[in-house]
Amino acid sequence: MNTSSLIIALTKGRILEETLPLFAEAGITPVEDIKSSRKLLFDTNQENVKLMLMRGSDVPTYVEFGSADMGVAGKDLILEYGSEGFYEPLDLKIAACRLMTAQPVDAEIPNGRLKVATKFTQTAKRYFAEKGQQIELIKLNGALELAPSMGLADVIVDIVDTGKTLKANGLEAKDTITEISSRVIVNKAAMKMKSAVINDVLNKLRTAVSK
Ligand code: AMP
Repeated sequence: MNTSSLIIALTKGRILEETLPLFAEAGITPVEDIKSSRKLLFDTNQENVKLMLMRGSDVPTYVEFGSADMGVAGKDLILEYGSEGFYEPLDLKIAACRLMTAQPVDAEIPNGRLKVATKFTQTAKRYFAEKGQQIELIKLNGALELAPSMGLADVIVDIVDTGKTLKANGLEAKDTITEISSRVIVNKAAMKMKSAVINDVLNKLRTAVSK
């Protein structure tokens, strides 16, 4: 194993927009335009560092199994995946939002078993179990905001930033399940085998975050 080489898995989309400036501050920049390219693996100005681009939900998998040494993913997806398989040493404090319950404005919520629609089934299950609330979970990958008005669910669990998406669909946010931001995660074996190069990047990112 080349202990100075580093493969870093980044989340596409809005998180990438905020990740790249922090990496630039830390001295790592892709050699081509990562946002407009269709490629998924990029060289950087540092010969030993490569960046991979993927959906956030795949970053924990790549990092846990060591195909990436490090990754950047939203806390929402880390919680949903489970964080036993990697370390989570740094909060980048970007793409901040909240995971919340939401329901139709002025809706009467039933006393019995609550129908909950969400993409975040593991997190929702844990949250309602801790509250002692019986629920029926309905897994959706999108169009969550339609679920209450179409009679599919009483409540949804989703990411809220400005709240505009909820409002546009006649819903209001209720309880905050957890605050979300993007985190750096690190493969456990890589943390030992490549500690010098990983700690160097972590320290530079930590400085960039605190600026
Ligand atoms: P908003 O209307 O500003 O409350 O944004 C809500 C929608 O944007 C949600 O349905 C999410 O899918 C998405 N969203 C907002 N912020 C984030 C984020 N930091 N990470 C992932 N998705 C987000």
